[in-house]
Amino acid sequence: MGDPEDKSTQDGGPAEPGRRKLLLAGAGVLAAQLVGGLGSAARAAGAEEGSVAAAQVPITARAYGAASAASPLAQMSIQRRPVGPNDVLLDVLYCGICHSDIHTARNEWASSMPTQYPCVPGHEIIGRVQAVGRAVTKFKVGDIGGVGCMVNSCGTCENCLADREQNCLVGATFTYNSPSAPALGGHTFGGYSDKVVVPEHFVIRIPPGVDLAAMAPLLCAGVTTFSPMQHWRLAAGQRVGVIGLGGLGHVAVKLAVARRADVTVFTTSQGKLAHARRLGARQVVLWPDPAAMKALVNQFDLLISTVPQAYPMRPFVELLKLDATLVNVGAMDPLQDIIGMDLVMGRKSVAGSVIGGIAETQEVIDYCASRHIKADIELIRPGDINRAYDRVMNKDVRFRFVIDMASAKA
Ligand code: NAP
Ligand code: ZN
Repeated sequence: MGDPEDKSTQDGGPAEPGRRKLLLAGAGVLAAQLVGGLGSAARAAGAEEGSVAAAQVPITARAYGAASAASPLAQMSIQRRPVGPNDVLLDVLYCGICHSDIHTARNEWASSMPTQYPCVPGHEIIGRVQAVGRAVTKFKVGDIGGVGCMVNSCGTCENCLADREQNCLVGATFTYNSPSAPALGGHTFGGYSDKVVVPEHFVIRIPPGVDLAAMAPLLCAGVTTFSPMQHWRLAAGQRVGVIGLGGLGHVAVKLAVARRADVTVFTTSQGKLAHARRLGARQVVLWPDPAAMKALVNQFDLLISTVPQAYPMRPFVELLKLDATLVNVGAMDPLQDIIGMDLVMGRKSVAGSVIGGIAETQEVIDYCASRHIKADIELIRPGDINRAYDRVMNKDVRFRFVIDMASAKA
């Protein structure tokens, strides 16, 4: 956990008067920044030769973001805070495209989580450590680190103390679209960017030898589907249904198969039937077909819904066994067609779940690395982000787009 007393790890940036002055005076030193590598920034800030090369002035980063809900994403410059004592500066190599990025860029969650612009999405980040603060122990320069959906939390509430930073009672600082210092743009910017500064507690160790690009989606899609399987104790032989075969759904299938659960995929896409079987599902159902659904009533121990919008859920609640649970991780709007009588009579539950804590994120990364589980990805260049968004909206991704950030530097 980041030291709650150490304000340099808060996303608002360094709070000590000296550092604050440096931050606000940033414009004067921006020219000497990290355009051609960290060395120039460290030298500009007067870092001693041979000392840990941590940037002590705000860092200008290249990013890809939306200026408004209606604008396509375009290249822009953003500021990252100086590297504080507990911070890690990552040179971003890969960043996955999650459907949450699209919801946010287009302000589709306006009623509960309005988007601040410019919006730089991205919370499936893999990068190489370029600098570390003096108190950092988990990483050294050159290591590979991952950043998921959170970059800070209070560290002291009962949920943070229980390794559930995602449920921080004060409110976790999410990787993008959470409050940040005005000098840094006023809200956090995500991983569609060449650099990111994150407290070490929120940086995940990436085991050696893995396919880095295909590991990136596990930082969100992986933990978001792993966490409910852990919480609801999905066991070998149990029947689990995965609703929606997209980025989250395809990882969910792989994780459930690894637990030797009996997996059924519910899809709306005829073209994904063979993919679902290849991923390890024993059964695939085109769920808009009522007859196919009726044949499965009272059979499931767990259902995980990754559909990005609300839809009538009653046909799925009917598939649950006594005491079983439908976990919604997709739709954030009012859920539809959940009937009290159905829940009462079968002691069934409809629940929600948001990502997972930092320890759990590390757990899923280690779990997948040791079992050679990775996402099926299409690697794209930053210039292709808008086209990728359109394809995700058309359910046409097999199964996660990952942006090759290094290609932008080449
Ligand atoms: P995705 O790649 O777009 O996959 C969603 C899948 O749902 C689609 O491929 C499609 O599968 C199905 N689908 C899409 N629109 C549909 C519609 N209108 N009706 C029925 N089915 C539809 O999205 P994702 O990145 O996996 O994310 C899924 C959702 O989870 C998003 O809403 C995202 O914001 C949310 N999310 C939540 C958390 C959390 O912590 N709770 C974390 C990450 C993401 P088929 O073609 O198989 O039908
Ligand atoms: Zn996500």
